[in-house]
Amino acid sequence: MKILGSAAGGAFPQWNCACANCRALREGTFSGPPRSQTQVAVSEDGRSWFLLGASPDLRSQIEATPELHPREGIRQSPIVGVVLANADLDHVLGLLLLRELQPLRVYATPSVRRILREDNSMFTMLHRVPIQAVWTDFTAGEEFALCDARGADSGLRLQPWSLSPHYPAYVREERRAQLAAAEASLGFILESPSARRVAYLPAVPGLDDPLLERLENCDLLLFDGTFWSDDELIRVQGGGQTAPQMGHTAVEDALTMLAGLRRPRKIFLHVNNTNPMLNQAGKEYRRVRDAGWEIAEDGWQFNL
Ligand SMILES: [Zn+2]
Repeated sequence: MKILGSAAGGAFPQWNCACANCRALREGTFSGPPRSQTQVAVSEDGRSWFLLGASPDLRSQIEATPELHPREGIRQSPIVGVVLANADLDHVLGLLLLRELQPLRVYATPSVRRILREDNSMFTMLHRVPIQAVWTDFTAGEEFALCDARGADSGLRLQPWSLSPHYPAYVREERRAQLAAAEASLGFILESPSARRVAYLPAVPGLDDPLLERLENCDLLLFDGTFWSDDELIRVQGGGQTAPQMGHTAVEDALTMLAGLRRPRKIFLHVNNTNPMLNQAGKEYRRVRDAGWEIAEDGWQFNL
């Protein structure tokens, strides 16, 4: 498993942002690395790779990852599938970058599939030849196997969890009324054939006991690190939404809520550029590290 990108939407620095973090990073005075938008890739054999989401930074993320470079012939890719957790632009725009007639299996909930395929004609670029994108629906709570476009089973299993009923703002009102709340935004628990489990939860509005129990049975937790505090964006930009309104648990709350987790290695992922914990010289970074958590960086790798 590789983390190709670890930032929230907009990346770090963000093109139109002059917050303290983005400014210091551009000036070369920031204590910490830049980050591209959240992107995870998983593989069982190191040859066939599945993407969790498809970020707008995917082109440069692939180039930065030798495992994902073409291996044989003139046109080839080790990327054989994509799993979509939601229909957010930061999570699906990269699909359009994968439109070069490569066979690809795309897993999504029926609602996310309808938003992309029926309401956004650009995605027909993924269907110009018969074996290009093959879409497979999944259901929250029902485990499924990750297979390539021709049906070869990778041995990896995913269990999807419904986390939030909120669809992206671009989804039309009429369409919204037809969509299932449980299919809007999901997290995944990935299980390898050797029974190693990884939880991938980049957008968590809240946690219930069944999910907490599942997390305690994981070896690795990649958890929503978007905002440090509920009012972070409002304080930085003078207005906007709270972290919960945007479907995120603030890191300072997550540290308390998840303090009892013993088994998993705990890593914050999907970190917004305004989050003060990005600054490795700051007190928030120290607090996260002292609590036993890490903050994901682009390029990190884990054995499944
Ligand atoms: Zn910024």
